[in-house]
Amino acid sequence: MSDANEPKLPKAYDHRQVEARWYPVWRERGYFHADEKDRSRPAFSIVLPPPNVTGSLHLGHALTATLQDILVRFRRMSGYNALWLPGTDHAGIATQMIVEKELQKTEKKSRHDVGRAEFLARVWKWKEQYGSRIGVQHAALGASLDWERERFTMDEGLSRAVREVFVRLWEEGLIYRAKRLINWCPRCHTALSDLEVTYEENHPGELYSFAYPLADGSGDIVVATTRPETMLGDTAVAVHPDDDRYRALVGKEVAHPLLGRRIPIIADGILVDPKFGTGAVKVTPAHDFNDFEVGQRHGLPMISVIGPDGRMTAEAGPFQGLDRFEARKQVKAALEGKGLARGAKPHLLPLGRCQRCETVLEPLLSDQWFVRIEPLAKPAIEAVEEGRTRFLPESWTNTYMAWMRNIHDWCISRQLWWGHQIPAWYCGDGHTTVAREEPARCGTCGRSDLRRDEDVLDTWFSSALWPFSTLGWPEATDELKTFYPTSVMETGHDIIFFWVARMMMMGIHFMGDVPFRTVFLHPMVRDEKGQKMSKTRGNVIDPLDITEKYGADALRFTLAALTSAQGRDIKLAKDRIDGYRAFANKLWNATRFALMNLEGFRFGAPAEERARTPADRWILARLARAVNGTVDALEAFRFDEAATTLYRFLWGDLCDWYIELAKEALYGEDRDKREGAQAVLAHALETALRLLHPFMPFVTEELWQTLRSSTGADGWPDSVMVARYPERRTPDDHAESTFGPVIGIVEALRNVRGEMNIPWKTALLGVEVGALSEEAHATVRAESGRIERLANAREIVLRPAGKPAGRRPQCAVAVGDSFEVLIPLAGAVDMAAETARVDKEIARVDEDLAGVAKRLSNESFVARAPAEVVAEARARASELGEKRGKLLAHRALLAGGEGAPAQEAPAPAPAPAPATERAPEPPPGEARTPLPPAREERRARPKKAAKVGTVGAKKAKKAKKPSPRAASAKRAAAKKAPKRKVLEGRAQKGAGKGARPPAAARRRPKGARGAAQRARRRPRR
Ligand SMILES: [Zn+2]
Ligand SMILES: [Zn+2]
Repeated sequence: MSDANEPKLPKAYDHRQVEARWYPVWRERGYFHADEKDRSRPAFSIVLPPPNVTGSLHLGHALTATLQDILVRFRRMSGYNALWLPGTDHAGIATQMIVEKELQKTEKKSRHDVGRAEFLARVWKWKEQYGSRIGVQHAALGASLDWERERFTMDEGLSRAVREVFVRLWEEGLIYRAKRLINWCPRCHTALSDLEVTYEENHPGELYSFAYPLADGSGDIVVATTRPETMLGDTAVAVHPDDDRYRALVGKEVAHPLLGRRIPIIADGILVDPKFGTGAVKVTPAHDFNDFEVGQRHGLPMISVIGPDGRMTAEAGPFQGLDRFEARKQVKAALEGKGLARGAKPHLLPLGRCQRCETVLEPLLSDQWFVRIEPLAKPAIEAVEEGRTRFLPESWTNTYMAWMRNIHDWCISRQLWWGHQIPAWYCGDGHTTVAREEPARCGTCGRSDLRRDEDVLDTWFSSALWPFSTLGWPEATDELKTFYPTSVMETGHDIIFFWVARMMMMGIHFMGDVPFRTVFLHPMVRDEKGQKMSKTRGNVIDPLDITEKYGADALRFTLAALTSAQGRDIKLAKDRIDGYRAFANKLWNATRFALMNLEGFRFGAPAEERARTPADRWILARLARAVNGTVDALEAFRFDEAATTLYRFLWGDLCDWYIELAKEALYGEDRDKREGAQAVLAHALETALRLLHPFMPFVTEELWQTLRSSTGADGWPDSVMVARYPERRTPDDHAESTFGPVIGIVEALRNVRGEMNIPWKTALLGVEVGALSEEAHATVRAESGRIERLANAREIVLRPAGKPAGRRPQCAVAVGDSFEVLIPLAGAVDMAAETARVDKEIARVDEDLAGVAKRLSNESFVARAPAEVVAEARARASELGEKRGKLLAHRALLAGGEGAPAQEAPAPAPAPAPATERAPEPPPGEARTPLPPAREERRARPKKAAKVGTVGAKKAKKAKKPSPRAASAKRAAAKKAPKRKVLEGRAQKGAGKGARPPAAARRRPKGARGAAQRARRRPRR
């Protein structure tokens, strides 16, 4: 090959170089920018869920960025006016805490020491300094965000939108201020919404009983409580109205034993359960949510004995100043001293903790702002009922509905400094003025001594407006006209209430239409064992470490391949990312090969017209299928299916098969055929790169650009990201069904070799092929020389169509899509050695099986072990049983039986875990003769097109519907792959082409069998 033909691609794929190159180019050329004035094209819009400005991106964000970028790139390439709007959230508590900590650390000062104005100045400074990190990280991931429209929840425009919404809701009577019991964090010093509370369900506490002496000295009444210190704030004792034990006491009074005041005995049928405790309960309206309701029903005084700092107030008398937990001890001691203690018993109780700092929360009576939520929730429920917004996975619809129908008023005030300060002012007479701009006088009495409410709004208040505030609301902007409602809200299911529901309510109320048409709630990213990633577990994976090591393309493809439309969890393993890096590498090598063989080629007439051979037509048919499958999957948010389709086509059909098949034509003398192969190869590769671009934007751009410049393609756009996305094509079933069996037969023969341990150098003799359609028969006949070369078979016999197979003892049978292969084993297999090996294997399986069976028959193991462990053992047992069956069938075959239908053939896997290869593959072009067998075997294996010893119809349709068993086998194969590769590499080096690795290397060593089983035992859906 001449130097002029050397492709402009470096030999080795270096993701760091490739990925550093393209992002700035795309951005500078304005590809990310959507045109708000262009209404000639359909609009597609997504607002990025704003990450906290304090944070750096974790894998959840990387998933968000990946899925949204895939959707946006897909639509942009498909001719949409696509907007993807970025921004960050000011993250009230989180940000304030970080800056407070820093202030404490560096200057030993609290925020109160520096004052509100100075503190806020510090937060802004901090934001300027660190707030841009997230942008850098998004760039590394390739996110095609419209940076010109980047917003921040505290920027001027959004702050204006927040004030406008607040004032309007106030004017409509949908915002009010009231003294209510709220969840208070004594450490963070702020109110929390119900959603910000973590409940510990069964906290071990105690139920403490003590006696209240009756005021008239006629006896006492015993009450039980889990929080004795709150008795200092009791304002009643309640009994059930129908409880005969206490009927006579209702209306009397008890004397508070520690504070002296008198408190009434009341009857309340709602609060009191006569069967619980003594049937009499103390009532503390200012420190318990149920008691608060009782207080309101009965007009009881509400005495706060615990202050915002968690210490006892002056109302607690002698206990003033004590920490609430210390007060508990002392109150108990005091009751003891007065002889009123009546014992305690252990009691499990629910305990609310602050989601941020885990401090035990205190119900606190205070003035707070609320949104009257029911009138807002109603239309948001209807919108989903009417299908104006739909949830994916659909199961979330019920979750959303249940919450919306049970919704409570939303406490929106937070006692923080960092955030949107509430636009309300109070005059000396206590009137409230709510206004868009600072008022000079009280709206009620005209006094000018106004004081602004110090509280800020809940962070979610501003993010609830995100889909329209970011587009310029309250102005009637072109952006709103063009991009609202947005097309998709893609976010984690953990914030469906915090955020999605609130955006629905606010969007409908202020815009008159839903904020988004589809809500796609993506799964949570967990580690490979399915555990939540957390700092304490030490299993957090930083997406930037991954992009550095494997490339953003590999990470993106992995995340997409793991995102099913129904899943709630993603288990991320680094091996898998590594495997998809190998996929990128494979494409690199395939493109290099193509470029070396496209000498003199120019894109012109459609490839369909230039195709000459059945193989040419077959790959074009497979391409059409891949295009249709990918487009269908993307439109339905089935990211995993799209990834699987692309991977199978590119790695399997194009790289493994077509490139091999095309070599004859490319290297041959027949000019017509060569030009045909060139046109088909170039077309298939170029189309596939466009198809793959949304998933792996960097490597596809690099390869596409090289292809573009090497083939002098006129009129192509300047970048693959603005090229047209492939559109659905008419499938060519005929081309697939005539040539498909050629590939199926080669794969079947290779599989038989693998499973029967037949060395490559041993030719398969007297192979019989049957059950072919007439057309396929002709094609297979024409291609039989090729089949023989690719599988090292000789004297292939074609059985006439319609003629059934005769009895063929000692034959392996493989049945695939519309073909059947019989392979005589005599002469190919060393029967004695193979029999001995299989016997040994059977013995080992039996031993393992006995062990598992013993564990499972142990009742206490089944009853006590974690469900997951038991399920694992069961799965293992059934797996071993299955394996045993296969081995026995194999053994029978060796003993002179006939290939028998052992079981249904497994269908291809849904999401092929990639074959991991660390060393770059040699470019396909360098191997002109059939590849070394070890490699052929490896390549053939993951396909599982046909299986030895299997008779049974396996329809093409069925093959598309993957079975979980095959999926796990595939995972197992992938896990195994690195080891195999090493062994293969060594064998090849040592013995050259045509050699096979030592038998020991091919056989799975005893210790390795776990890999496959581990993979299978993982719980699956
Ligand atoms: Zn807290
Ligand atoms: Zn006033």
